[in-house]
Amino acid sequence: MSQGATPEGAGSASLTTVEAYQKAILSAINPLAPVSLELADAEGCVLAEDVTAAVALPSFDNSSMDGYAVRAADVAGASQESPATLRVTGEIAAGDIGAYRLAPGTVIRILTGAQVPVGADAVVPVEWTDGGSDEVAIYRPADAGNAIRHVGGDATEGETLLTAGTRLRPMHIAVAASAGRKAVSVRPRPRVVVLSTGDELTEPGTPLVPGRIWDSNSYMIAAAAREAGAVAFRRSGVPDDPSGVLPALEEQLARADVLVTTGGVSMGGEHDVVKAALRELGTVTFMKVAMQPGMPQGFGVIGGDGAGGKGGAGGGKKVPLFTLPGNPVSAYVSFQLFVRPAIAALQGADDLSLPAAAATLTSPVRSPSGRRSYLRAVLDGASVTPLSGQQSHQIASLGRANALIIVPEWETQLPAGETVDVLVLP
Ligand code: AMP
Ligand code: MG
Repeated sequence: MSQGATPEGAGSASLTTVEAYQKAILSAINPLAPVSLELADAEGCVLAEDVTAAVALPSFDNSSMDGYAVRAADVAGASQESPATLRVTGEIAAGDIGAYRLAPGTVIRILTGAQVPVGADAVVPVEWTDGGSDEVAIYRPADAGNAIRHVGGDATEGETLLTAGTRLRPMHIAVAASAGRKAVSVRPRPRVVVLSTGDELTEPGTPLVPGRIWDSNSYMIAAAAREAGAVAFRRSGVPDDPSGVLPALEEQLARADVLVTTGGVSMGGEHDVVKAALRELGTVTFMKVAMQPGMPQGFGVIGGDGAGGKGGAGGGKKVPLFTLPGNPVSAYVSFQLFVRPAIAALQGADDLSLPAAAATLTSPVRSPSGRRSYLRAVLDGASVTPLSGQQSHQIASLGRANALIIVPEWETQLPAGETVDVLVLP
């Protein structure tokens, strides 16, 4: 679709289904090139290589307890009544790289994580002894191998520990570090630039005059992009001036892997400046998606040779562009359904669709025929309650929602007690 192709079902009058639109978007997105990032910067990125164990883990036999390194044979007959009393010849702490050898009939005090000395085949936990320092009384026998973590007991040398495609979470960072990796090859967090358009927009924190509103979309979409693992930048209040829209977008190309605009794409003619400006490019497709909220959508590319970019600002790269509707709830739902999965696709992943669940309606809902409704709701266990205030500008109810009820295209009302699909909001 990136080159002006039209997704299935997007005729002049017909509506595109949510799935067809999602599919068209994903098929037009190319994953970002892998980069090498140090571990401290790699969390949230998606591995572009397998990570293998550089050495066996652990790489040396070591103690899993504080206690005494012994020969199992020397403590074989030990009991409470008749302890094995042995001379303590030294101590090995974690990190000690000395070469120790245990003489028969003696013990060496050993701490958790310390190398087991040559000649020892078991560790007796301190709890089984009198804790002596020159001599120790051991009250229980220990089998060979007791309290020893053997070489390779966690992973063998060369074993694959993490596979390409893994989104790096803290445990994966730990695995990579334990495998000795300083850096890993990853697809980085995509950079999302959000531009809100509209002459009515005023920055929060500045006084409001009648006719103006505070810009919420740019903050919301940037926050949603960050929540989805992206790096987000904000460019607020692009004026409703058709000649200013393309330059404002071009200005952002260099730092963007995705551009997201809000506003300026409905049916209002010359005031819909985003649509007017991008239509000329021919690389962005505008359509109506069979959903509520969020019917007017646009997706395509900008930059590269020719279209937008003006041969420089973006380094000639083509950047995917979403034009989201201006009403805040429409913009929010559109982001979650279309931009969020695209952020994953830029990382070569497909793990960012909202989790779905089934729940029982606690009160009836209505929905327009032929469009799929996404109704703000509160999901509580297996019950879901639609919120009042379902119009697209009603941000207050969005702030109370933790889920969206899906009402299929062919339903116009559903009674309380019905089982519905819901999307759980992140
Ligand atoms: P538009 O799509 O530009 O026609 O805008 C539709 C509605 O959304 C209008 O009521 C706008 O004032 C409102 N809107 C547009 N952009 C924003 C924004 N950034 N923050 C809050 N509301 C907005
Ligand atoms: Mg507008």
